[in-house]
Amino acid sequence: MTWLHLIGGGVSNLHLAHQLAQTPVLPGKVVISEPNPEPLADKTLCGFWPAKEPLAIKPNHRWQQWGFSQAGQQVNHLAQHWTYCRYAGPDFSRQVRDLIEAHPQILWRQEALSERPKARWVMDSRPPSLEQFQAFQSFVGFEVDEVQGESLGLMENLCCEDHGISFVYRLPMGGRTLIELTRFETTPTPLDQLEQGLQALVGDRQIHYRESAVIPMGVQCDDHWGIPVGARGGFARASTGYSFFASQRWAVKAAQDLLNDRAPIGPYTALENWMDQVFLRLLRNHPERLTRALFVIAQRMSADHFAAFMAGGSVLACLRMMRAAPPKPFIQAALKWA
Ligand SMILES: Cc1cc2nc3c(=O)[nH]c(=O)nc-3n(C[C@H](O)[C@H](O)[C@H](O)COP(=O)(O)OP(=O)(O)OC[C@H]3O[C@@H](n4cnc5c(N)ncnc54)[C@H](O)[C@@H]3O)c2cc1C
Repeated sequence: MTWLHLIGGGVSNLHLAHQLAQTPVLPGKVVISEPNPEPLADKTLCGFWPAKEPLAIKPNHRWQQWGFSQAGQQVNHLAQHWTYCRYAGPDFSRQVRDLIEAHPQILWRQEALSERPKARWVMDSRPPSLEQFQAFQSFVGFEVDEVQGESLGLMENLCCEDHGISFVYRLPMGGRTLIELTRFETTPTPLDQLEQGLQALVGDRQIHYRESAVIPMGVQCDDHWGIPVGARGGFARASTGYSFFASQRWAVKAAQDLLNDRAPIGPYTALENWMDQVFLRLLRNHPERLTRALFVIAQRMSADHFAAFMAGGSVLACLRMMRAAPPKPFIQAALKWA
């Protein structure tokens, strides 16, 4: 019998397969079922990673400065111990697949499964449906020629409009800039509407590449074929939508658990999951308060503490975030008064 069946060869299962491929003799056969020959073709994958911790997969870009702006006010972060990393999806995928395809016990099958496969362990990363999302992070991005002097903007022109939070994300990559119009919301904005807004922003600059997505901010689903992982397993953090490096950290531990015949658990602490639910309650009921609070948090937190919180998995980082956040809206939301 197959020892491990990975349903989907996207971000989370690729991280796991990459970890397992470093064990020369596995307890049995590993099968990866993935219908798409290039599952990460149109994705730019970013997240925070400690500056001094080695990365097994080489990123395309790293930054130590990033900024936020709201109503003409600007906050700049300069980190000492953290970096913001970017992978072009195909480059990440190629590096990982070179290693896993060289392992004699790992098999990549181009197929879509229609039922739960038979295996000792099954990791299910089929994307959840939109009805299973608690809230939505919708965005459209264009890669255009870089304008001299542009800096990395995590949340620029942060504002509350149409019952959601809108901002511009700008990633200067030396020669090109990826610029995205993003919304956090409880009802998804049609992507063509976001595309029109972005088109107005970039004007007549030539567009070299496009990407878009609706990412879950919290999921509620239980129709799994095995252990839910990736977005299905709640790895896309409900307060940020980020999952890339959380999946990577999870995979290191999950591979050890599986090799010891134990079921892996998710990447986030109970405190983070609780805080994220408070965040979602504020987004649902008072997006205008949350918009102001996000900018205050950016003003009050140091770059390193902010990055540590965004990376996930640290109780200390959560406590620092709670200290920086304006207390009233969060306490009211936590007590379900707001
Ligand atoms: C354009 C774009 C940019 C993004 N940028 C970032 C970012 O900067 N940082 C970040 O953290 N996240 C980012 N994300 C989100 C991130 O890609 C997802 O959260 C992440 O891919 C989720 O990982 P996953 O393993 O759950 O799913 P996926 O990577 O979506 O993998 C699931 C796989 O399952 C396969 N599948 C579906 N049905 C079946 C079936 N029946 N049988 C077998 N296989 C099946 C699919 O083909 C898919 O490849 C971005 C997403 C997009 C689309």
